[in-house]
Amino acid sequence: MKFDSVISGKIVTDKVFEGEIGVKNGKIMAIKDESGSMNGEKYYDCEGQYIFPGFIDSHVHCFSNPDEGIEKTTKAAAHGGITTIFDMPYDRPYPINHIDLFKQKTEQVNKYAYVDMGLWGTIAKCKGTEQITKMAEYGAIGIKLSTFETDVERFPRIPDIQIKQAMELAKNAGILVAFHAESEEIIKSKISEFKEKGLTKAIYHNLSRPPESESLAVIKLIELAYWTNSKIHLVHISHPHTVELIESFRKAYNVDVTFETCYQYTTLSTEDLKKYGSIAKCNPPLRTPDEVKCLTNQVLNNRIEFITSDHAPWVKDLNETNIFNSPSGLTGLDIMIPVMFDRFINKGLLSIIQFKNMFSTNIARRFGIKNKGIIKEGYDADLTVIDPKKTWQLDETCYESISNQSVFNGEFLQGKVTKTFLRGTLIYDGEIKNKKMGQYIKGPGFKEEMLFEN
Ligand SMILES: [Zn+2]
Repeated sequence: MKFDSVISGKIVTDKVFEGEIGVKNGKIMAIKDESGSMNGEKYYDCEGQYIFPGFIDSHVHCFSNPDEGIEKTTKAAAHGGITTIFDMPYDRPYPINHIDLFKQKTEQVNKYAYVDMGLWGTIAKCKGTEQITKMAEYGAIGIKLSTFETDVERFPRIPDIQIKQAMELAKNAGILVAFHAESEEIIKSKISEFKEKGLTKAIYHNLSRPPESESLAVIKLIELAYWTNSKIHLVHISHPHTVELIESFRKAYNVDVTFETCYQYTTLSTEDLKKYGSIAKCNPPLRTPDEVKCLTNQVLNNRIEFITSDHAPWVKDLNETNIFNSPSGLTGLDIMIPVMFDRFINKGLLSIIQFKNMFSTNIARRFGIKNKGIIKEGYDADLTVIDPKKTWQLDETCYESISNQSVFNGEFLQGKVTKTFLRGTLIYDGEIKNKKMGQYIKGPGFKEEMLFEN
């Protein structure tokens, strides 16, 4: 058989071996543990480099800052070796809390995206739950809700009674509900206390969101998941004690709860917050060095299912001295994979296979995405090639995102994404190829007939 393309290198499945992957019509058609035996229209020799299944980032914000949008976000993803993103629903000016807005966004994806995209839906603060089934049947990856209110319209705090209802509806529709879990009471009273006292240095961002502001919200949500027997996911868990709590509830009551941490919670700490101020401001906040060490050990011991970027790109005003006036969120898609590869693989902390599971396989499985997340015949030929020997310096010019402000700038990293393939097509090889071939990826609640309904 002549393939459309053949890629050779160190293939990462449940083992790592030198070989070739034959691709036809966007799918992986053959895998061999020898080189030189396959015949392809195009041949990519990546000797000595790792070929991973395309990385998946389930926590991205294209429109929190509308200056970023789908094009720039997905270019940053392709650049960073990420072939599928799931976009959060807290868009400006309108959050994706209605089937009509949801449908419009899927059309935007098919028009502008450079990588594949799944979409989260959300609900309005009042009487919003009726939209859940419709969005699930149209292919929403899941429903994202918050226990903390950033904005009453765009990012509301959902009352408990509606959270419970949302869990039940999502369960019946075959999808999960994900949560931003932070306690509104604790955080808002701490922020006003600090503001009144004029305590506005960067560290007060951490102090205004103590560990219990995360864990209290988490306990409530797991309790509601228990009583509704539903499936939930907790995003951006930042504290090792919260991880322990989730594990113990899961063990004691068999609750179907998963969680993620983000790359910044295992690589940065309050020391960076003090030093870099708003550039290191995210919610939940960076934790103390001891807490980071503890969370990192949980990653190494496979106690954390997967890691996301929570990419929320702001261009921050570096003259602003009051931390409470700066936007929250870090840039991430361009740099998450190389930074984590440098920190965890080069230092021998994680195995290549753990890395693959954490950034691809486990995410595809949890969200029910068929045909992605592993290198196997019949699966999408989404592939990311990393040269483990290449050392390079990260600086402000290394970004496709509008936000190139990062604590990591200036660092020398070992390990570089050299090629990204989406369904067999090369979309990045040192530069972004001009191919907007990203597609809308449907979640497990999708029903075919929804596409033809008016
Ligand atoms: Zn987020």
